[in-house]
Amino acid sequence: MTSNTPYPPALDAGLETERLSQTIKDWSIANGLAVRPPPALVGQNQDPEGILAINAPVTLFPSPFPKSCFEEAKAIQTNYNELYARISQDEEFLGRLVQEVADGDDFIAKLWEIHLKVKEEGYVQNLSLGLFRSDYMVHQDGDHLQIKQVEFNTIASSFGGLSAQTSLLHQHLSKTEYPLLTTPIPPNTLNLPANTSAHSLAAGLHAAYEAYGPSILNHPTCILFIVQDGERNIFDQRHLEYSLQQSSIPVFRLPFSQLLTHTTLSPTPLRQLLYHLPHNPSQIFEVAVTYLRAGYGPNDYPAPSSWLARRRIETSNTIPCPTILTQLAGMKKVQQVLATPPGPSTLAKFIPDEEKSSALWRTFTNIYPLDSSSPAGREARRLATDPKECLKYVMKPQREGGGNNFYKGAIPEQLKKVPEEHWNSFILMELITPPAVQNTILRQGKLEKGGVICELGVYGTCLWDQKTGQVKHNEEAGYLLRTKGDQSEEGGVAAGFGCMDSVALV
Ligand code: ADP
Ligand code: MG
Repeated sequence: MTSNTPYPPALDAGLETERLSQTIKDWSIANGLAVRPPPALVGQNQDPEGILAINAPVTLFPSPFPKSCFEEAKAIQTNYNELYARISQDEEFLGRLVQEVADGDDFIAKLWEIHLKVKEEGYVQNLSLGLFRSDYMVHQDGDHLQIKQVEFNTIASSFGGLSAQTSLLHQHLSKTEYPLLTTPIPPNTLNLPANTSAHSLAAGLHAAYEAYGPSILNHPTCILFIVQDGERNIFDQRHLEYSLQQSSIPVFRLPFSQLLTHTTLSPTPLRQLLYHLPHNPSQIFEVAVTYLRAGYGPNDYPAPSSWLARRRIETSNTIPCPTILTQLAGMKKVQQVLATPPGPSTLAKFIPDEEKSSALWRTFTNIYPLDSSSPAGREARRLATDPKECLKYVMKPQREGGGNNFYKGAIPEQLKKVPEEHWNSFILMELITPPAVQNTILRQGKLEKGGVICELGVYGTCLWDQKTGQVKHNEEAGYLLRTKGDQSEEGGVAAGFGCMDSVALV
């Protein structure tokens, strides 16, 4: 392609678009780039056997993405892993931030309470595993392009399974379909980097499994995926399971709501977590690693027993991914404290190496607290309540999973509903406005064409010792590109706004 060829190319709305869509639909199902259908699509109780799957929403073309930004994001991931491993080890720092938000946030307060109870019993597992994802958008400042971090995920970082498949889909299309278009893209003209996210995340789980070692109780060991009831994004998780099973590691899925029923704690000093096969309870596996794809938000804790379940994981000898401390390290409050102007002093405390810490600092955008006493907090209160200034910001509570934020004009409205002494449970963040690119999204068989905004996520895996600080495994683990229409504020694929994409480096 020459630089003045428009990309993605315009498609003729008839047969050409139809052919490309059909190829994507078939390839996606054939290769597990799929989700379970929402009840609204098939009708309540219309799939009682649970046999249906539909295409995950995806772009027809890989979106153009600046190569320098992509490489920068990948290169700093191991520094980010190290930063969040160190934050997870600083109980005093996390405790202070929890106190700042706990009055207005029962969920965070409750997580902290469980941590304190387990601390009193005495933690029996020092190893801690993080499967992280750092999310960015490209910020354009004149000619200069710079990635800016949207958030850092420390629990249930999803889409690593589907993301690898999306890269493969676009690579497949670049060989088979794009060269046949009326405005052809010849083979080997798109720069489509390999994406190892599924295998790399599995490799992180594998490293923790190895580090746990054999059972001293002579049980077989396993990895347990703790999942939500009725999970629709199941194939994303299955890709990780299949990768682990190829290495002959026993992997099981257990809904969080059934954890107390199908696990026990061994009545031995190490309190091993034992999984009893539901269909054959006399067969027992010792859980080396517990991978949480549930438990990140209040909806997963409908009853007091849910908190007992979380406590059972935390108090046992299993290696949790993540621990409560690591989950809390992902609070937006932590990100705010690291980024608040005027300078990187908090960051430097965790990452003393100046070159490393300034590489991380460059990716921060302005984030403010909303307290009434600090100068930054007072300034943020002015910005958040001013009808013009607020248009440049997003306000976030300490939540994960999408759909929780307040954008622009909704910020002052929301603050009116919250007692002022609880404002500090939110953070105020400058909006990043990436350059819009054109693409077409295929969602539930329908095409959505227009300006889109891309969000890059880079995965990282890290295994460390909470007591000694020793890092035993620290890897960058592939990427995710999520794309949404430029009119949408939220970008979650599972939340129904965004779609899967991959990068065409430019
Ligand atoms: P969650 O934990 O719910 O995923 P995020 O912080 O990732 O919360 O915000 C959800 C979405 O809102 C992001 O995927 C992004 O599309 C948008 N968003 C969040 N922060 C910003 C920001 N500073 N600038 C622009 N968009 C943002
Ligand atoms: Mg997010």
